[in-house]
Amino acid sequence: FKKIPSAGAAKDEMFQMTETFNRMIDRLEESFAKQQQFVSDASHELNTTLTIVEGYANMLRRWGTKDARIQKESIDNIYDESKRMRKMTEQLLELASSGKGLKLETVPMDLVDCCEQVLSLVTKLHENRDIDLSTSGHRPILIADPMKIKQLLLILLDNALKYSEDRIELSVRTEKNIVEIHVKDKGIGIPKDQTALVFERFYRVDQARQRKTGGTGLGLPIAKSIVLEHHGTIQIVSGEGDGTEVIIKLPKASTD
Ligand code: ADP
Repeated sequence: FKKIPSAGAAKDEMFQMTETFNRMIDRLEESFAKQQQFVSDASHELNTTLTIVEGYANMLRRWGTKDARIQKESIDNIYDESKRMRKMTEQLLELASSGKGLKLETVPMDLVDCCEQVLSLVTKLHENRDIDLSTSGHRPILIADPMKIKQLLLILLDNALKYSEDRIELSVRTEKNIVEIHVKDKGIGIPKDQTALVFERFYRVDQARQRKTGGTGLGLPIAKSIVLEHHGTIQIVSGEGDGTEVIIKLPKASTD
C-alpha cells in the first residue's frame, strides 16, 4: 500500500513555494526601492547644480555689468558647475549601461603596459605631480577590456590627485593567480567608518569641499562596477589624515 502523505507533502511543497515566492517579492521590492532611491538622488544632485547655476546667472544679470568681481565669480562658478554636471551625466549613462550584461571587449592585455600608457596621459595633465609606478615579478597578463581598465586607473589616480598633494604610488603585484593593483596617496584620507560607504552612488565624505574639487560621487561606484565585471574585488584602506590605499584584485590570465 502506498501511504497517503500527499496532504502533508503537498502542504510542505506549498509552504516551500510560498517561501520562494515571498523571497522573490522581497528581492523585487528591494531592487525597486534601490532604483527609486537612485532616481531621487540623481534628481537631487542635478537640481542642486541647476539651482547654483541659476543663482549665479541671476547675479550676473543684475550686477554683472557694474561689478567686475561679481562678473568673474559668476562666470567661473557657472563654468565649473556646468563642467561638473556634464561629467555627472556622462557618469550616470555609464552606470546605467554597466551591469546590464553588455559584453566587455576582453583581450589578453599587459597590465603594466596599460599602467604606463595611463601614467603618460595623467602626467601630461598634471605636470607638477609625481606618480611612481612599481611592479613586482614579471609583467602580468589579464583577460580584460583595456578601455575599462584604463578608465578604472584614471578614476583612482584622479581621486589620489584630488585628495592629496604629495607623491602617489601605483603598484602592480602578482600573487599566484591574482594580480593586485594598489593606488596609494598620503592625502586627507577617508574616516575608517566611511571606507565602505564611498562606493555608494553620490556618497561624498565632505559634500561642500568635494563640490569644489569637481567631484560627483560617482567615480568609485563606476570603479567598483568595472572591477566586478572583471570578477575582481576592490577595497579601501584609509583613515582620516592617514592617506588612502585602494587595492584591486583581479584574476590573472591562465596563459601567463
Ligand atoms: P568624487 O567624484 O566625489 O571624487 P568618488 O566616487 O570617486 O567621487 O569618491 C567618493 C568620495 O570618496 C569622494 O567625494 C571623497 O570624499 C572620497 N575619496 C575618494 N578617493 C579618495 C582619496 N584618494 N582620498 C580621500 N578621499 C577620497
